[in-house]
Amino acid sequence: MSTYGIDLGTTYSCIARLDSNGNPEVIRNNEDDSNTVASVVFFENESNVVVGQAAKENVETDGERVVQFVKREIGKRDTRTYEFDGKTYTPVEISALILTRLKNLVEAQGGTIEDVVITVPAYFGLEERSATRQAGELAGLHVLSLINEPTAAALSYCARQFQEDRTILVYDLGGGTFDVTVVKMSMVQNDSGRDVQKITVLATGGDDRLGGKDWDDRLYNHILHACCEDNGLTPEDIEPETRQDIRSKVEEAKRKLSKKQSVKVRIDVNGSRTEIVISRADFEQMTSDIVAKTMNFVDATLEKVPAEAIDTVLLVGGSTYMPMIINAVEAKFPGKVQQHDPDQAVAKGAAIYASMLVEEVGTPSAEGGDTSDGDKTPRAEQLTSKFTVEDQTPRSFGPGVVDATGAKHKYVLENFIKIGEKMPAVFTKTYYPLEDNQELVRLRAFENMSTDDTLIPCVDEDGNPQATDPAHNVKLLGELVVKLPPATSRDTPIKVTFKVDASGVHVEALNTKTNETFETFLRTESDIDVERSAVHQLRISSD
Ligand code: ADP
Ligand code: MG
Repeated sequence: MSTYGIDLGTTYSCIARLDSNGNPEVIRNNEDDSNTVASVVFFENESNVVVGQAAKENVETDGERVVQFVKREIGKRDTRTYEFDGKTYTPVEISALILTRLKNLVEAQGGTIEDVVITVPAYFGLEERSATRQAGELAGLHVLSLINEPTAAALSYCARQFQEDRTILVYDLGGGTFDVTVVKMSMVQNDSGRDVQKITVLATGGDDRLGGKDWDDRLYNHILHACCEDNGLTPEDIEPETRQDIRSKVEEAKRKLSKKQSVKVRIDVNGSRTEIVISRADFEQMTSDIVAKTMNFVDATLEKVPAEAIDTVLLVGGSTYMPMIINAVEAKFPGKVQQHDPDQAVAKGAAIYASMLVEEVGTPSAEGGDTSDGDKTPRAEQLTSKFTVEDQTPRSFGPGVVDATGAKHKYVLENFIKIGEKMPAVFTKTYYPLEDNQELVRLRAFENMSTDDTLIPCVDEDGNPQATDPAHNVKLLGELVVKLPPATSRDTPIKVTFKVDASGVHVEALNTKTNETFETFLRTESDIDVERSAVHQLRISSD
């Protein structure tokens, strides 16, 4: 089978496929004896680039040649690049190196890989999505589609637990990000009258700077200070090699504390050995505020969907192995918490989705695969007809138009489609040319993170950059050029439609006098080719 699901994570990545019985399985990373690959790249020298655990082991000693957390940079405007041995790498290229490593895992085990589905956080905007897709293509993969991480996790969960309608809160605490998403699984009839399981995203929240790394940092500082105290040193006295040693041992110690009540860490400081015993209780005490922080995000999400409506809480992300997380979530949702393949669920869900897309049919087997609750695991053949995914818009979208209703003209962003709306989301509004005999309209399309009806666009009427509220994260996606016939009056209605679906934004303008339609599809940065001068705008009606 050549169809795979890829979880391209901030700290760890994972690749999965469906086995011959239609059960999702992860491709092992034998080199690191793990189910995942660390999303860390070490540019050792001109001819050797290392990805994975071995790269991670150079963070403290050779930090300037190591790239990690690149997912935080991908698809961002004016993003940084990385330079090694005279070559410049973009975040897309670094991500492609990680994807290539995953591809090599498959090939090293005799597999072939063609079509893939890559997962992205629900809050990724169009450019982050498009950059992720580009990274896949650069790695020589055919990217069938992207899927939101919580949706993939829910898909993986529900493939095992086929049941009635249910609302699931996905609590995903990874290495560098925290996402809370509420999804609803329901049975609906599709167009051909068949029952299908529908996954609808109801609410999303979280913090893209909160994750397992915060726990690592606390433990690192704790050990560093213990080493200093033991040897009468200050943190500045500790050599980079010793720091790397602490860094490497921190994550291992943290993982052990998920299973054991205490761990012993031994560090050599200038030839003398420091031994530190850390109990789980100590660790929980030094990190309790971070646990509380995640629960605050859960509470914020519950303002959109009430707690009583939640049937199940699904714990995903490697950091949910920590008992303190399980306990905190269990205390809030007694009896509702499920932990399900925390570090693999997302990749497995993507593999299920990928197989749905290519309509692969698993090899028929009389048994199917048994799951722990005795249900038959559905084969790919059944999955294809049993799921439909309904996602939410990851951002708000709207056109830039002139508000000519007041004494002074004002160029505004009319926020047509709001973040969190059901996709596909469609909105239509009628505008008018700014002046009589206008020959052109440059209809700009913007993306943002606000739910306000009107915003200041990030460019002014003339197309020159202008300051906006940074919290709104307003971006110019592109523009649609509409040609108007000679002698068009300023009362000619131009019907503008925005349609947002999983693959991008479709913008359409209809001249209702001539019935002429202009349209464009915006999904990549390269679509942006915006004229920076002419004032050819549409205006909001003054009636
Ligand atoms: P990503 O953030 O890239 O999606 P994961 O979901 O795989 O990554 O989560 C990685 C995080 O989970 C890391 O911080 C890692 O240290 C942590 N982690 C993995 N296993 C455990 C464990 N057994 N106990 C505590 N933390 C763990
Ligand atoms: Mg993840």
